[in-house]
Amino acid sequence: MIEASPIEGFFHRDKEKIYLGTKVNTIIRGSMKRYLDRLGFLEINPVIISPISDPLNHPVDDPTLSYYGYRYRLTKSMIFHKQLALVHFDKIYSFSPNIRLEPLERRGTGRHLAEFTQLDLEVKGKGREFVMKIAEGMIDDAIENVLNALDRGSLNPGLRRYKRPFRKVRYLDAVEEYGKNFETKMSQEAEEPFWIIDIPLMEREFYDREKDDEEGVLMDMDLIYPLGYGEAISGGEREYKYERILQRIAKKGQRKEDYALLLEAARLGIPPSAGFGIGIERFVRFILGAERISDVVLFPKEIGKFVL
Ligand code: ASP
Ligand code: MG
Repeated sequence: MIEASPIEGFFHRDKEKIYLGTKVNTIIRGSMKRYLDRLGFLEINPVIISPISDPLNHPVDDPTLSYYGYRYRLTKSMIFHKQLALVHFDKIYSFSPNIRLEPLERRGTGRHLAEFTQLDLEVKGKGREFVMKIAEGMIDDAIENVLNALDRGSLNPGLRRYKRPFRKVRYLDAVEEYGKNFETKMSQEAEEPFWIIDIPLMEREFYDREKDDEEGVLMDMDLIYPLGYGEAISGGEREYKYERILQRIAKKGQRKEDYALLLEAARLGIPPSAGFGIGIERFVRFILGAERISDVVLFPKEIGKFVL
């Protein structure tokens, strides 16, 4: 198969769509930064390569690179660096580029790219409720700024400022009512964003904290966009105690050697925290009501395609 040159594809981009995507990107990044700065957060620079990264809950290729004989991974999320940053600071965020070499099955979802940016934040000594409120306020502020800056006609017709707090649905209740594929169905039905909370342990990564009063259920959450746009946020309270992290790594069938540095830090004392990450490109797509993320991103790393 002869693929079109990535350069040719680039010169044929839909100017109007990439302009709006880039404009919304500019507005929401500024808005979210100002929102968090006002709350006293510190912005930390993104980490691009490191010996440890997010294991994720689904298989993605995990290439490493060797540098002076040391092994580094590409950042899949800054989860562990967020936890470590709190050894020194109280609340931090980063606009963090993530590389997730997703399998081909995720090609048609319209909301996966192999490279994306998430605004990843973490707060020391606070719980899930606290960071959910921050998420709701930050999203509302960003939407308000977009509505003030752009013509309604260029935006998602369903976009508006939503009533807060957003609705919360327990994961198992969602499964009972809508079945395993609840996220897609509920997102399509919804007209406002909503939270999925209390996700079962084996459905998520080892770093989210198990509930004190409910075994096998986590103190975590996802935010889901309405109108079929799917997942916006993942986050939760974190596991920070050495023994518990070790147990959770074992339960997930991961190798503790891969997380030796995290375990060493946990021995020295990682602070309790909660946080989340919100995908920037997905937020842009939702605001514009675009069919695919790749329509509104200037250099989209589309899965399985040779692109710039
Ligand atoms: N950054 C997310 C978190 O804070 C995890 C993810 O990237 O999915 O939980
Ligand atoms: Mg997630």
